Amino acid sequence: MEAIWIKYLLLVVLTISFIFDKSLSYLNIKRDVPFVPDTLKEYVDRKKLLKSKEYQTTNYRFGLLTSTVSFTLTFCFIYFGFFGWVDDWLRNLVDNPILLSLLFFAVIFIGSDALSIPFDYYQTFRIEEKYGFNKTSKNTYISDKIKGYFLSILIGGGLLTVLLTLINYMGKGFWWQFWLVSAAFMVFVNLFYTALILPLFNKLTPLEDGELKSKIIEYAQSVGFPLDNIFVIDGSKRSSKANAFFSGFGKRKKVVLYDTLIDQHTPDELVAVLAHEIGHYKKKHVILGMIASILQVGILLYILSLFIFSENMSLAIGGSQMAIHLNIIGFTMLFSPISTVLGIGMNILSRKNEFEADEFAKMTFAGKPLAEALKTLSVNTLSNINPHPWYVFVNYSHPPLLERLSKLEDTDPTF
Ligand SMILES: [Zn+2]
Repeated sequence: MEAIWIKYLLLVVLTISFIFDKSLSYLNIKRDVPFVPDTLKEYVDRKKLLKSKEYQTTNYRFGLLTSTVSFTLTFCFIYFGFFGWVDDWLRNLVDNPILLSLLFFAVIFIGSDALSIPFDYYQTFRIEEKYGFNKTSKNTYISDKIKGYFLSILIGGGLLTVLLTLINYMGKGFWWQFWLVSAAFMVFVNLFYTALILPLFNKLTPLEDGELKSKIIEYAQSVGFPLDNIFVIDGSKRSSKANAFFSGFGKRKKVVLYDTLIDQHTPDELVAVLAHEIGHYKKKHVILGMIASILQVGILLYILSLFIFSENMSLAIGGSQMAIHLNIIGFTMLFSPISTVLGIGMNILSRKNEFEADEFAKMTFAGKPLAEALKTLSVNTLSNINPHPWYVFVNYSHPPLLERLSKLEDTDPTF
C-alpha cells in the first residue's frame, strides 16, 4: 500500500477507536440506577447512590478530557509527520541503528510522560482526594515516580534492546525468537513479582497469628491447597481501596492481602475472598490465563513482523526513510482494533472464570460471606451498580456486581 493511504488509514483507525470508546463510556454514564435493589438495601441509600454517580460522572468527564487531548495530539503528530521529524533530528546525533531506536523511544517516553503527569497528579490529589480514596503523600508520589522510571529503564529498556537487536540481526524471524524471550520474562515476573518488585513499593509483613490466619489455613487445608505464605501489604499508604491477590506457581505461591481489605471485612468474608482466589488456581484459570497472554503476544509479534521492514509505513508517519522504530509506532496504532477484539475475547473468558471461582467459593466455603464482601467492596469504591451491557461486554473483566450476587445468593438479578 502506498504511504499516503497508510497515513489516511492510520488517521481513520485512530478516529474510529476514539469515537467507539467514548460512545461506550457515554452510554454507560447516561444509564441511571432507578432504585436500590433489595440485596443492597443495607449497604446503599439514596445519598450514597448520588455520591457514586457524582464520582463516576467526575471520572467520566476527566477521562473525556484526557483522551480528547491525547487523541488530538496523536492525530496531529501523524498528520504533520512529527514522528518522522524526531527521527530525522536524532539521525544527526547517532549512527548506530539500535542506539537510534532506543533514543527515539526515550524521547517519545519522556514527552508523553511529561504530558501525562499533570493529569495523573490531578486524578490523585484532586479527584481521588475529594472522595476520600487518596492516601498518597506527595513524597510517596514522587518516590513512586522515580522508582517507576528506574524500572522502565531497567526492564522496558532491557527488553527493547533485546527486541531491537533481534530485529536488526535476525530479520523477520525475530518474532518467534522474541516471543520465547517475552514468554520466559512473563513467567519470571509472575514467579518473582512479590519477591522482587512489590517490596520496592510496599512493605510486606507475614500475617500475624490469630483467628484470621487459622481460619485461612484451616480452609486451605480443607480444599487441599497447602498455604503458609500469607502476607499483608500496606496498601493504605496510597489508597483506601482494597485488594487481595495471589502470585506465583507451585511452591512459590504467595497470598497478598491489603491491610485496607483486612480493616474492612470480617474474617469469614476474607476467607471467602481467598476461597474465590484459590478457585482460580483449582480451576486452572491462572495457568490458562498465562497461556492466553503468551499466545496474544505471539500474534502481536507475528503481525509486527509483517510491517517491521516496510518503507511505506515509515514514510506514512512522516519519516524520510525506513526506520524500525517508526514502524513499531505505526504498527501499535494499526493494531489497536485487533487488540480491542482480542481484549473482548479475554474479557468474555475472564467473566466466565469469575463466575466459576465464585461457584468454587460457594461450594467449598460459603456464598453469603463472599456476597457480603463484594457488596462492601463495591459500595466503598463507589462503583457503578448498573453498567450498560455493551460497556460491560467490551470493558469488564469481572461480571457486574448484581449478576455475581444473584448467583451467590440464588436470586434474580435486579434491573
Ligand atoms: Zn476472580
